[in-house]
Amino acid sequence: MGTIAENLQAVHERIARAAAAAGRSANDIELVAVSKTLPAASVEAAYRCGQRHFGENQAQEGVEKVTALAALPGLTWHFIGPIQGNKTRAVAEHFHWVHGLDRERIATRLAAARPAALAPLQVCIQVNVSGEASKSGVAPGGELALAETIARLPRLALRGLMAIPAPHAGEAAQRRQFALLRRLKEALNVRGHALDTLSMGMSADLEAAVAEGATMVRVGTAIFGARRR
Ligand SMILES: *Cc1c(COP(=O)(O)O)cnc(C)c1O
Repeated sequence: MGTIAENLQAVHERIARAAAAAGRSANDIELVAVSKTLPAASVEAAYRCGQRHFGENQAQEGVEKVTALAALPGLTWHFIGPIQGNKTRAVAEHFHWVHGLDRERIATRLAAARPAALAPLQVCIQVNVSGEASKSGVAPGGELALAETIARLPRLALRGLMAIPAPHAGEAAQRRQFALLRRLKEALNVRGHALDTLSMGMSADLEAAVAEGATMVRVGTAIFGARRR
């Protein structure tokens, strides 16, 4: 592994190559640097390289980093983990985006807890595109009912769909799962939900995700190195 600066550069090059191969503009793909488990100093190092979007998957750890780095202008914080009911307030008060929304009860609680002084919380519905029993997310098809619930709630802005494909799936299987997420988003668009975001692709599979239309990739290991958890 190189330095954070070198790794960020390499990830931007991967995104650019994958976008070019798909006839897409790399400008349409936002890189979320997944800083879970890492100290605030690592976020600051990436920030100095121009990185502005960061992802966290545990509420307490995330809130500590958001608070510690509050003086850095222009940061956008993404909550990418499963959200427990007792953590909705912390997430609603500190994050800009939530990617793993998969139940009405959590959506309702986030809406109730989102401070009126902040912009609406930007949310993605997680869809379990791999069908693994252990995975979070609504089953494919379940995103419609949840989208309609979210659309009626104040303080939430429904932006897109998010998925994590089965680990170690081959490239063809990854692409099928990402393509399914894209089709589900397009179906919601047809029904009048103005989603513009496909949050898909991580260190190991971002090329497949970009090929299938990802607009946000969530990348940790390829930027910061291997994590202990
Ligand atoms: C940890 C995590 C990532 C980043 O995974 P890497 O393989 O380290 O790039 C992306 N998305 C979610 C939801 C994660 O929990």
